[in-house]
Amino acid sequence: MAASPVLSFHNLSIKEINRHKLFATIYRNPNLPKLRLSQLLDMSLSTIDSNVKRLLSEGLIVPSGTLESTGGRKATGYTINARHKSAIGVFIRAQSAIICAVDLNGDQIASQEVALPYSQESSYLERLSTEVSAFIGNHTELYSGSILGISLAIQGIVTIDEDDSRVSYGKILDNQQLTLSAIQKHFKLPCTLHHDSKAAAFAALWEHPKLENAALVLLNDNVGGALIFNNTVHYGNAFQGGLIEHLTVDHQGRQCYCGDYDCLECYCSKRALEQEAKLPLTDFFTKLHEPECPEALQQLWQSYLEHLSIAIRQVHKMIDGTIILTGAMAPYLTVGDLTELVALSNEHNAFSLTQSTAVPVAHSPSSAGPHETQVGDLLLSVNGDSIVALGAARYLINAYLECFEANPISDPKCNLGTITLNLPEDKN
Ligand SMILES: [Zn+2]
Repeated sequence: MAASPVLSFHNLSIKEINRHKLFATIYRNPNLPKLRLSQLLDMSLSTIDSNVKRLLSEGLIVPSGTLESTGGRKATGYTINARHKSAIGVFIRAQSAIICAVDLNGDQIASQEVALPYSQESSYLERLSTEVSAFIGNHTELYSGSILGISLAIQGIVTIDEDDSRVSYGKILDNQQLTLSAIQKHFKLPCTLHHDSKAAAFAALWEHPKLENAALVLLNDNVGGALIFNNTVHYGNAFQGGLIEHLTVDHQGRQCYCGDYDCLECYCSKRALEQEAKLPLTDFFTKLHEPECPEALQQLWQSYLEHLSIAIRQVHKMIDGTIILTGAMAPYLTVGDLTELVALSNEHNAFSLTQSTAVPVAHSPSSAGPHETQVGDLLLSVNGDSIVALGAARYLINAYLECFEANPISDPKCNLGTITLNLPEDKN
């Protein structure tokens, strides 16, 4: 699929470059008055003034109120207009789809889960398209003209290509060979397709932009994994990087859907735990925290933590960084579980994870989400299932900001080279 007709710095006039630089500076440094912007950008006050007027008239920025000034007269600051553009993220799951919309800060505007069993039939994509249209229609704050596109994330390895992205491995949903071009036929807005766990890693990176090296373990119905190296999501040569779920953690002979035996998936997925406990997840954790909890359930949970710690120990040796635990099971994990995981991972381990008492972690200022907890190198992100849809949508926001060189994340695969955006104003 052809990339967006984007505004590259290479073919812009000086005027346009100044305007783009000003937008990027306001995005990164909200609430500054014109004088400070002129100092930061080394532009004359009259250049700043005319560009501010233009950005205001285009709806890209808004005044952010009157600032206190030492010199008597009060100056007005500016912020970006976060609702100038939005993006839709969709997490396709076996039985439902989570649809969300985010603004230019990557913050969630709205979210909804719709019951929609996945199937390979084209009628599924037709129904999904109808649900997304209904979601957009139900939220009057979303104007289809300002929506950058629909970003879908799915279980399965997605090979991203300029011509056509596709699921190159999809045993769980049996979605092998699902292509972006097949999806696009059912949507008017441009679509992109992503691997769910990499979208989750992108979401985590957005919330922790200074994260250098990290691994993410997505504890959903199935386990997912992704790596962050040097502040970017790692894809690997064939998009198979970071498959933490297929690390061997035991020798009991349990066969994984991948064909191998004793993968982390067989012991630490939500599905595996529910099957062993013969209880739905919520009931399992309710019983686990009761004073009269049966010993079998306590042992099951201990065994779960031991298996997870084996994967954490292996991954930590590779990345030497933060291990992020997230997904549907994350909200049920306690500080005690995190402390236990660190202790288990550090047994007979010369290259141990750092240990510390639990601290709540503040998100980046623009991100309003649930709190996180950090115990040493372990970070528990309780976004739950919604992290995948959020990450998918943020790929589009990041690509749009790339037009202004204001993108918070530099992604080697999901960028303006591979993502098409709905930018009607730039097509003429
Ligand atoms: Zn496996």
